[in-house]
Amino acid sequence: MSNNTNDVDVVIVGAGFAGMYELYRMRQAGFSTVVLETADDVGGTWYWNRYPGARCDILSVDYSYSWDPELQKEWTWSERYAAQPEILRYADFVADKHDLRRDIRFDTRVVSAEWDDGTKRWTIHTDTGDDVTCRFYIMATGCLSMPKVPDIEGTDLFTGEVYFTSTWPHDGVDFTGKRVAVIGTGSSAVQSIPLIAAEAEQLTVFQRTPNFSIPARNGPISDERMAAFRSDPEAYREAARHSGAGVPRELAQEGALMVSEKERLARYEAMWEAGELLGISGVFNDTLTNAESNETLRQFFHDKIRSIVNDPAVAEALCPTNHYVGTKRACLDTNYYETYNLPHVQLVDLRQDPITTITETGIDTAGEPFEFDAIVFATGFDAMTGAIVGVDITGRDGVTLEDKWAAGPVTYLGLMASGFPNLFMITGPGSPSVLSNMMVSIEQHVDWIADALEHLRTHDLETIEPTELAETEWVAHGNEFASLTLMPTANSWYMGANVPGKPQVFLPYPGGVDRYRAACDEVVDRGYLGFALDGPSGRVVNDGIIRPLAADVQVMLDVMAEMGVPPIESLSVEDARMFMTMSAAVRPPGPDVGEIVDGTLPGADGSDLEYRLYRPATPGPHPIVAYFHGGGWVLGRHDADDPLCRDLCAQSGAIIVSVDYRHAPEARFPAAADDGLAAAQWIAEHAEDLGGVPGQLAVAGWSAGANIAAVTAQQAKLVGTPAIVGQVLLNPVTDCDFTRPSYVDNADGYILTLALMTWFWDHYCDPADRTDPKASPLRADDLSGLPPAMIVTCEFDPLRDEGDAYAAALEAAGVPVHHLQCKGQTHTSLGAVDALVTGAYARTEMAEAIQGFFGASVTSGV
Ligand SMILES: Cc1cc2nc3c(=O)[nH]c(=O)nc-3n(C[C@H](O)[C@H](O)[C@H](O)COP(=O)(O)OP(=O)(O)OC[C@H]3O[C@@H](n4cnc5c(N)ncnc54)[C@H](O)[C@@H]3O)c2cc1C
Repeated sequence: MSNNTNDVDVVIVGAGFAGMYELYRMRQAGFSTVVLETADDVGGTWYWNRYPGARCDILSVDYSYSWDPELQKEWTWSERYAAQPEILRYADFVADKHDLRRDIRFDTRVVSAEWDDGTKRWTIHTDTGDDVTCRFYIMATGCLSMPKVPDIEGTDLFTGEVYFTSTWPHDGVDFTGKRVAVIGTGSSAVQSIPLIAAEAEQLTVFQRTPNFSIPARNGPISDERMAAFRSDPEAYREAARHSGAGVPRELAQEGALMVSEKERLARYEAMWEAGELLGISGVFNDTLTNAESNETLRQFFHDKIRSIVNDPAVAEALCPTNHYVGTKRACLDTNYYETYNLPHVQLVDLRQDPITTITETGIDTAGEPFEFDAIVFATGFDAMTGAIVGVDITGRDGVTLEDKWAAGPVTYLGLMASGFPNLFMITGPGSPSVLSNMMVSIEQHVDWIADALEHLRTHDLETIEPTELAETEWVAHGNEFASLTLMPTANSWYMGANVPGKPQVFLPYPGGVDRYRAACDEVVDRGYLGFALDGPSGRVVNDGIIRPLAADVQVMLDVMAEMGVPPIESLSVEDARMFMTMSAAVRPPGPDVGEIVDGTLPGADGSDLEYRLYRPATPGPHPIVAYFHGGGWVLGRHDADDPLCRDLCAQSGAIIVSVDYRHAPEARFPAAADDGLAAAQWIAEHAEDLGGVPGQLAVAGWSAGANIAAVTAQQAKLVGTPAIVGQVLLNPVTDCDFTRPSYVDNADGYILTLALMTWFWDHYCDPADRTDPKASPLRADDLSGLPPAMIVTCEFDPLRDEGDAYAAALEAAGVPVHHLQCKGQTHTSLGAVDALVTGAYARTEMAEAIQGFFGASVTSGV
């Protein structure tokens, strides 16, 4: 029975693959539902984009629904990449099979919608004059469905035939004997140009920015791929859902610069032969993050283009130089570059010869007038946000979505926006969307939304809406992820850069389909974290942040979790030390410094302590920092924090002397503390010999090393020597109390755990001695008169609160303190120089603090 009423539970806008599946799920769940669609039939993208050569560029076996197990058996694709008519037939087949059309109102465009906070319902206004009211309003309006209006002067003047690839005539176009212009060289142009060239008498392509394209090598689907799919379709689909981009693929383990040039080229060649879009950035694991790696891929493309295109000038014009590979959507083609070898095909490079105006008879460029019978605009879309703000949506308190998004879209999970209760977006900005196989992302959103609606109904709730905190932090998380990649460096439609006046922010979520799905699932598992749910029984605000860790820290923890690294406290001391040495061998080395000198100095008991001196490249003498490494008094050596010491040396312009100290359990408390003081005294006495400035000594350390640095400063005050001008304490151990909230909140999961700290303390110090200020400097009776301190603490560190407490106690005692609390960082993340970049600012501030201690006598070596 069709839904003729104008008051329904759910309105879905759009009858593409997203709207069709959402309708199915809503029906299954028993919600009365109406779909409103501008077109006169289903299919969305595949209804509108009928240009010659239109086909998917994700393998059809992957770019198909997974929610109907029977459909997977009933439907067989004829090619690797099905053409538009076949994909539209597929949509038609699904619509028939599930009798979807009876709830779809075609030829109906939604023009505006407003939320009524009194009735808790949306009113949807359409261009037919029929309004529909609903509790839940779902935008399945597509990411690439709002054609971009060409921003070329004179567009209306042309009297010949005008076509847009995005709204191609249903009965096709015959270009035989015609002079044709194609404006644009994105995916649609790359697909259509060879076929238009095959018909036209003359074809002129106007190119603003060349794109990277590889041959699609279309044809039968490989037996291997089909076998993988057919042998266990559900396992295949599940692998896609938990993959980086929605297609099951082996992840590259190596960076492009880690293999020989021969090996690198062989792998690029294999990618070129395989003809898969996601293969392009998947050859190595760093081409989207490392410019130097990407350059090797870019050169490979340039060489390919030069080897195919005969005219060297045309080849150069087709070589993309202004963006890195993968930072704009790359293309799959069939004979695209070869087409430029045909005598009747011409390329106009608009960077050299810009269009001045479209005329009645053709196109004038700065250098030449052209006459045409037909112009094809392949000028792309107002991507991701165009169709959503194309509807005038007014939420609570009269705020419009367009206004809310004036500086760029703001969403929680790319699914909802605060101030707009019960409004959902499928594959909206802030979700993986266009960076993925959209079919997988569509299904995930449809399922999430359907489950949410069922949850509300089950719990007698009427509305769901994200909190501002959750939304703001999600946007920040996505931006941070993007900033770790080369993506924002391109003027791409991912950035909104193709539409004049559109705010330039990275629109999709770049953290990957798998990571994104995990976040969405976790939101639900944690009782709809970051949402306010409201109903007759009351309002529940479950405010919070779903991904509070810095993006690169999160990735690092994910990788470590996958590697199944054993907990250190489960190892013997010897094995733990070996493990630390092995881990240190594979980390980035840190910046160059002027000189590194190894030596020994006497410890408190007269035995030799090894040290490593890092000297800046600037002319000396330099002030000196005595540095103590981390490792819980049990692990580590004088060179254990090498990258951090290099970084501090290079950035501060001070000599860093990283001194070892006797370790537990062989030498228990107070051996390490005593060695700290002995080392500082020796360094002060030998400052000149070391190339340092006498009387200019600071102490620094990380973790247990920061404990030793703090204790050294206290002991030096008590015994009167050496004079210490400042202390830099990174994640210091300052107390033996494990009951502070940071120990509870961060007990597990962030590398330094409660169990590991217990292991360290047990090796180092008898319980009876732990309250001694030489073990727990926070417990010292008098903190006044200590040197100025910079104290750095990290949000996800069990030691956070005792570090914060030490900063507060020093301040209370009149000691100048610069206290830096690092959001989203862990105990180990700030020391990961060149590996984790989001903490770089903290290292810079530590170096600046060191410079501050020494005043004018020090300048940065960077
Ligand atoms: C040429 C082309 C090729 C593509 N190839 C691939 C591919 O290979 N792989 C891939 O993953 N993705 C591809 N995409 C992306 C593609 O858009 C998605 O894969 C998918 O089809 C989107 O489905 P959808 O239902 O979300 O949106 P759409 O298919 O865009 O459907 C949205 C529907 O909403 C309707 N609508 C919009 N606004 C309104 C309104 N105000 N009122 C009423 N109706 C409205 C539109 O008419 C449209 O029918 C391609 C896109 C294009 C343009």
